[in-house]
Amino acid sequence: MENTLITGGFWKERQNLNINSSIPAVLKTFEDRGRIRALTQELKDDEKHHIFWESDLAKWLEGVLIYLQKNSDDELSQFAENLIDKLIANQEEDGYLNSFFTFNEPENKFTNLKDRHELYCAGHLMEAALEHLKLNGTSRFFDAMERYMDHIADTFGREQGKKRGYPGHQEIELALLKAYEQTGKTKFLELADYFLSERGSEPHYYDEEERQIKLKEKVINFSDYPSEIRDFMSMHMSGMSPANEKRDYNYWQAHQLPVHQKTAEGHSVRALYMYTAMADLARIKNDSRMLETCKSLWRNIVDRRMYVHGGVGSSHIGERFTFDYDLPNDMAYAETCASIALIFFAERLSRIERSSEYADIIEKALYNTVLASTSANGKGFFYENYLECIPGFLTFQHRRHGIRDEYHTCSCCPPNITRIIADLDRYIYSSSNEGIEVHQYISSEISFNINDDYIELEQLSGFPWEGSSKITLRKVSGREFSLFIRIPEWDPKMKIEVNGENVSFQTNNGYAQIKRTWQEGDEVSLSFNFEPGLVRSNAKVRYNMRKACVFRGPLLYCMESADNGPYLNKVLINEDQKFEVMNDDDLFKDCKSLSGKIKRFTNSTENLYSISKPELNDSKVKLIPYFLWANRGENEMLVWINET
Ligand SMILES: [Zn+2]
Repeated sequence: MENTLITGGFWKERQNLNINSSIPAVLKTFEDRGRIRALTQELKDDEKHHIFWESDLAKWLEGVLIYLQKNSDDELSQFAENLIDKLIANQEEDGYLNSFFTFNEPENKFTNLKDRHELYCAGHLMEAALEHLKLNGTSRFFDAMERYMDHIADTFGREQGKKRGYPGHQEIELALLKAYEQTGKTKFLELADYFLSERGSEPHYYDEEERQIKLKEKVINFSDYPSEIRDFMSMHMSGMSPANEKRDYNYWQAHQLPVHQKTAEGHSVRALYMYTAMADLARIKNDSRMLETCKSLWRNIVDRRMYVHGGVGSSHIGERFTFDYDLPNDMAYAETCASIALIFFAERLSRIERSSEYADIIEKALYNTVLASTSANGKGFFYENYLECIPGFLTFQHRRHGIRDEYHTCSCCPPNITRIIADLDRYIYSSSNEGIEVHQYISSEISFNINDDYIELEQLSGFPWEGSSKITLRKVSGREFSLFIRIPEWDPKMKIEVNGENVSFQTNNGYAQIKRTWQEGDEVSLSFNFEPGLVRSNAKVRYNMRKACVFRGPLLYCMESADNGPYLNKVLINEDQKFEVMNDDDLFKDCKSLSGKIKRFTNSTENLYSISKPELNDSKVKLIPYFLWANRGENEMLVWINET
């Protein structure tokens, strides 16, 4: 909700790290690598403009503009305004705005929607422009983007003379729906609706587009790109099923009309940005068929295709969803952007119906993949989120190493992380005519209106280190309303007291509903079971048979060889494994690590193979929060631990 402010504790510190460390670090890499100089055609001889650089800048800018809505920082504000000037200075007469094509390939504008990200960049720019409009009331950035969207609407559509195209990387759809809701202009809704209803229809636009590309004999040459980009592009560009000549468009979620798609397919970030827009469209248009589709997609993801840390998109080839229960740990892709997009989808569904599972999944992804994506100093970022890391193995698989890099050639994740951390306020509460939902346990304050009554409340939370949260009603109207308090899936027996007394409550779709006439100063105390506990997979996940992982509250834990020595798969835990909770400030402020007595295999011979079984001996293990792994150099890490 808009009028929320994170006021202290763990997440305030994370937001401070974001603004003081991550946002400047990401900007520096963008400046050093030419993303800003490209806007004024000042690239150095050895630098090459890239098709989606503007989306990187737009995401960074969006996070900064969200920050500036609640904080003043003249220097940062001045920088953002200058960057906006540089971005919109490249707008052409007809509204077109993409500096890569304007400067490098004007003849190829809108000729390869499938692979070249123009509409994706437009979407991110529009999202940033909407935050600029929110910040200032009027915005030359938004005006420029509106002109660009008008140009896009003049170019694409079902009317005579227009191209019946749609983006290869979805994003613009959700941006257009945001623009519609923020401005009330129906043209944005109509364009989003067109993209989401035209996608995947026959004859297939991408087939036609390819025919045109071949006619022009325009072959994109990636040979002088860095190898990781080259491999990435060649994989993406092929999309050809070896068994037949027909292209497999599920990579782009263009294999069917979106409303007919029931399982999550293809590139996970594209998919989830599209599902987010579909959920918005279902809500805005009250479209029950689209909502049913969204729910099928949601069930498919969270019941069969999501990692225990909230990561999705298990295959690095195609950065994509694969098939049910296919969740490899050491080869996990689980791109940070995909978890962020899953959070978007969950939040949009939660706007349609009250159900605690949406906030549960947001919590899971926030505390695990999203937090883990950033180093403790705020300057390094993970793109992939492995659940098992064996450094030598990654090297030979040509995978990114298990260290957070400050720079990624393909840098979608770092600015996506900085903008979601800046925008975290929106995930904590929501309100309706009945009352207010408390989704996340984060120290914060909020003011809101229920049926014209002005209410203020404050939350103080010990999460994620302590299992307690206290909500104080600071201003009330004297009229009855409900607090809906999320009962986390990991603690169905959470305790709730009002002014020190146990209260009974009704459970309403996973929320404890406490309906009463609240008084100023009323205190609602929540306590949660933070005993470390084991979690196991569905037996269909072949990678996790006879293994368990450890959670304490919302936090997933893992072992690292820095604490436990190499060959972590030699460790075995018991069915009723107990762990002791230890303060571990050396690792991270207020951190709680776990220690336990376990069994460990010891070889009885150094031979590679022998008829003797390894011995099992008593040993000890230390587990640290998953989000803190790889802060002591590259080393082995393991989430799923063998069970005796
Ligand atoms: Zn990314």
